[in-house]
Amino acid sequence: MTFVGYRCSLCGEAYAPEQVRYTCPNDGGNLDVLLDYESLRARYRPEDILSRTEASIWRYLPLLPLENAPGAEGTPLHAVGYTPIFSLPRAAEKLGLRAVWLKDESRNPTASFKDRASAVVVARAREMGVDTVVTASTGNAGAALAGMAAAAGLQAVIFAPRTAPPAKIAQLLVFGARVFLVDGTYDDAFDLTIQAAEEFGWYCRNTGYNPFTAEGKKTAAFEIWEWWHGVRSVWRQLIGEENAPAPLTIFVPVGDGNIISGLHKGFKDLLELGWIKRLPRLIGVQAKGSAAIAQAFHAQTEQIQPVRAETIADSISVDLPRDGVRAVRAARETQGTYVTVSDDEILAAIAELGKYGVFAEPAGAASYAGLLVARRQGLIDPDDPVLVLNTGSGLKDVRAAMQAVPPAPVIEPRLEAIKRLLKP
Ligand SMILES: *Cc1c(COP(=O)(O)O)cnc(C)c1O
Ligand SMILES: [Zn+2]
Repeated sequence: MTFVGYRCSLCGEAYAPEQVRYTCPNDGGNLDVLLDYESLRARYRPEDILSRTEASIWRYLPLLPLENAPGAEGTPLHAVGYTPIFSLPRAAEKLGLRAVWLKDESRNPTASFKDRASAVVVARAREMGVDTVVTASTGNAGAALAGMAAAAGLQAVIFAPRTAPPAKIAQLLVFGARVFLVDGTYDDAFDLTIQAAEEFGWYCRNTGYNPFTAEGKKTAAFEIWEWWHGVRSVWRQLIGEENAPAPLTIFVPVGDGNIISGLHKGFKDLLELGWIKRLPRLIGVQAKGSAAIAQAFHAQTEQIQPVRAETIADSISVDLPRDGVRAVRAARETQGTYVTVSDDEILAAIAELGKYGVFAEPAGAASYAGLLVARRQGLIDPDDPVLVLNTGSGLKDVRAAMQAVPPAPVIEPRLEAIKRLLKP
């Protein structure tokens, strides 16, 4: 077991694993999970991970704060992660870039990035002997927890705002969760969930509250590391060491800030182990109408001022980000930055990604919209290799998708009707 405790991201206080469960008792700060890097360095080399055959997040079990794999083999709990990375050559050409890739997190069992966090939280719940897990969610975190809990035979309880997209609510219900639609915002649901967990003895997964969510999300960094390791060695052979690519730049959609801080944690783990020499650049993308973290970043402060969030991208619509401080640092400490995108830019990105064969929900397309903005602002050089994260499937929010594209004409079933419409 390499899980040795926690450190508060605000006051720096260290805690033993059994001393705290969620946030810092002093100041409510998010806790970073501490691993015994010294013993990991002594026991593992990169090849020990790279040569594993397990094609899911559990190939990284030695680097996770868990005693054992979660059980429930062969279920959707063992199909999380190891998502494909696609090349987007037409996007690269259009943008004048050497290479653009997209990591497609919609391929997870419940169709979003959130499965990574929920799988690790469910594994933790099983180790703790808890039988009910609970979360507040705008939709995806709840669907992921409900799905992973179902796979593991645990009960899930989900508090979602009543305005969540219907497809996400359908997922919650079909996965057999107890679902409560809160007549209020996500932030109201968040606070209610913490009270309910306390009152009924449930294990709470809330994003930016439970320290294990970031540990699940960091597995995407490990997958990017493995893939980039391969890409670099091919490029070295093709074009020589002197032309080796610049460090990778990764575009990440940001709401609460837990995905970007999870990725940051994953790359910091690899740095601690000596398995990478430098961190990739992390660029956070927020919707203009929900940009509390981007505002703090550009004001060069870690004081996050809440906003009244309004954006079509429901998954990144957050008044008070729960992992804002670490999200600011993720960009700062990797020479990254934050950009903001309008709802129109998000809708245009849905339509453009669709033409490359990728169907993204609004929050997922925001990262590609952010790449366009960053390129326009001169933040990306032609030689910078770029990876964008599609964090969720377009099927999650069909209403938004229909806003991104022109409607199809209805025709009489006659050739004449087609000819009329095909005329230029
Ligand atoms: C949750 C979510 C995000 C944002 O993640 P945070 O940890 O809240 O920053 C982005 N995209 C999708 C599809 C999500 O579900
Ligand atoms: Zn603290």
